[in-house]
Amino acid sequence: MLLGRRIGSARQPWRLSAKLLIASSVVTVIGFSAICANVMLNMRHGEEELARQTLENLASSIDADISRNVEIYDLSLRAVASSMVMPEIASVSKPVRQLILFDHAATAKHFGAIQVFDAEGRLAIDASTLDPLPENRGDEEYFKVHRDHPDVGLYVSRPMLHRGAYAIVLSRRITGADGRFLGVVAGSIRFSYFHDLFGRLQLGPDDVICVLRRDGMVIMRTPFDLDEIGRNIGQAPIVMRVLSEPSGSFSGTTAFDSVPRLLVWRDGTRPLVVLVGKPWASIFELWRTEALRIAAIMTALILFVLGVTLFLAREISRRANAEEKLEELATTDALTGLKNRRKFDAVIDTEWRRAVRNRAPLALLMIDADHFKTYNDTFGHQAGDQVLVGIAICISDSVRRAGDCAARYGGEEFAVLLPGLAPMDALTVAETIRLKVEGWSAGESASTVSIGVASLVPTAATDWSVLINAADKALYAAKANGRNQSVLASLPRLSLVA
Ligand code: GH3
Ligand code: MG
Ligand code: MG
Repeated sequence: MLLGRRIGSARQPWRLSAKLLIASSVVTVIGFSAICANVMLNMRHGEEELARQTLENLASSIDADISRNVEIYDLSLRAVASSMVMPEIASVSKPVRQLILFDHAATAKHFGAIQVFDAEGRLAIDASTLDPLPENRGDEEYFKVHRDHPDVGLYVSRPMLHRGAYAIVLSRRITGADGRFLGVVAGSIRFSYFHDLFGRLQLGPDDVICVLRRDGMVIMRTPFDLDEIGRNIGQAPIVMRVLSEPSGSFSGTTAFDSVPRLLVWRDGTRPLVVLVGKPWASIFELWRTEALRIAAIMTALILFVLGVTLFLAREISRRANAEEKLEELATTDALTGLKNRRKFDAVIDTEWRRAVRNRAPLALLMIDADHFKTYNDTFGHQAGDQVLVGIAICISDSVRRAGDCAARYGGEEFAVLLPGLAPMDALTVAETIRLKVEGWSAGESASTVSIGVASLVPTAATDWSVLINAADKALYAAKANGRNQSVLASLPRLSLVA
């Protein structure tokens, strides 16, 4: 069959409603993703702030503990240094002198006994014993510093093995009333103090605590590494910043390893600076787990939403296509593939009103098979059907302009609406159809058609039945005139197109 079955199964483009559905889903997904990402970033920021505060508190408490102990010990050293210049001290007995010089602070758990060295570095007095063994510290760095620089004040030595234990030596100069160098009073804080202090803290495996001297020397650090103790890292840009600013934080790696950390330091105005650091990986560990969980859920939801959206969009398009097909089926004549009567009535109504608006002619051909009853009776109904199909093909082939409408009007009768065609042009089309049918069916069972032609410029005062009646009358005239011919209707003067 050549006609009418053009309802293809080719892939249809997305319908507007389907596109809108996809667009709204995509916008929603992007919106939710953005909100989610924003919440996650805020959480991350919160984790960072919390870690910073925790580290600041940790650094503050370590700094406070160390400073308090250094201060207590320094007070003892000051007391000894000032007592030593009193002339009476030389005249009292050794036990009394011990009582005058040394308070109980000097005997605390992690503090080494205070010692007094004379101007040559010889051990003169030892808090731990009344009769110390001979000992000379004249070559020690801390001794030389005080000897050569009167204004050093409290001096913190590099970490050293001091009396059998690693310690830092705290020392002060003993200066006579005349400004003369009389010797050095020195004591030590053992590493056990730091171990004890750090051991009480809840630290993560990669957390670091570093105690620096003000020139950048590593006094103590945890994790403990003897090789790093005593190393001067004062030239590292970050350490230079730590030593120059009273407190602050930065993100980076330490001089000891390449783990990126958040590092915080407090109160760089005291003799020792405390620097604490936590790896970013452990700061964001919980957040990362949570972020991955939410990202996985979000991805699954997004895929689900997009999947459902695509499914629904396809369904919408499929249904729209099906509706279109149904619509087409409902307006198409099943046998010939031309428009059916229902559709024709709708089209002529629309075209009539358009022609009224445009003051344009509207032409109608009424086509009727000649002696069709006889044909049926002779060749059978099925053969008659084939003739109807043949006539429909001849009509379709002759009527190709957009806006033209060829329909099966009923039985063996067809109607062709030709908007814009003047009577003579419509007659020409009618003749083309008639001759085509004649030519196609020439032979023994020749079939012909008679055509009534009418064309007028409609007015608002009339309706399209005028046109139908006129074409019908012309058709009857054609039949009466002997059939197989086209007759042009004569219309009332007012509406007749000249
Ligand atoms: P005229 O030249 O005057 O039009 O004569 P006619 O026989 O064509 O006119 P009439 O109205 O007497 O007969 C129409 C016939 O068309 C009657 C019917 O059998 C036949 N017919 C109507 N619809 C169909 C159809 O769908 N298929 C077939 N095969 N025949 C049909
Ligand atoms: Mg008829
Ligand atoms: Mg007929």
